[in-house]
Amino acid sequence: MPAIGNVNLVLFGAPGSGKGTQSAFLIERYGIPQISTGDILRAQRQAGTPLADRVQGYMDRGELVPDEVMIEIVRERLRQPDTAGGFILDGFPRTVPQAEALDRMLADLGKRIEKVIYLQVGREALIDRLVHRGRLFDRPDDDPTVAARRIDVFLSDTAPLIDYYGSQHKLEKVDGQLSIEQVRDDILRRLNSLNGQGRRRP
Ligand code: ADP
Repeated sequence: MPAIGNVNLVLFGAPGSGKGTQSAFLIERYGIPQISTGDILRAQRQAGTPLADRVQGYMDRGELVPDEVMIEIVRERLRQPDTAGGFILDGFPRTVPQAEALDRMLADLGKRIEKVIYLQVGREALIDRLVHRGRLFDRPDDDPTVAARRIDVFLSDTAPLIDYYGSQHKLEKVDGQLSIEQVRDDILRRLNSLNGQGRRRP
């Protein structure tokens, strides 16, 4: 399959908005790696690295790990050769300073983010999923109080990315309250404008 260009995507949405599920479709469809900063941090904790000590308190409280730590993690990850044909960032950027740092580091690599998919699910619906449909997640920070904190942190610190990427004309707002298949089809439709780029699979 010829690689005509890169498909560099950001997928963002509140905890429980369905990013993991939709990333899986995109990985399959475009044949590009997913970079999940949450997964990277959990792997560090699993391995008991020195970084784990620095991040565990924030994670367990449902708060954000400091920007400089996250920016270094992503900078390192984007140097890996498997990102050459594109990538899907999931969980980063989560603040405007992270988004600015990402733009700078990609520019240094001669790359850019093409599209940002925002999976929009309202706070009430997220809480509703949490309370009425049982556990949203399957992790220690799934405790209802911590999960509610993660949602609030999303709304205060991460939601400003809507304007950040909106003003760059990269934002695609997708209704994350529809069915998994409807959300998937909507995302794929919006990425069709990237046709001819990337290694889209038939
Ligand atoms: P969520 O389900 O909340 O989207 P993630 O798996 O993406 O969860 O992240 C889990 C935790 O890891 C976050 O609550 C936060 O403490 C930390 N984390 C992950 N990515 C970032 C980031 N880009 N900036 C700051 N903290 C992060």
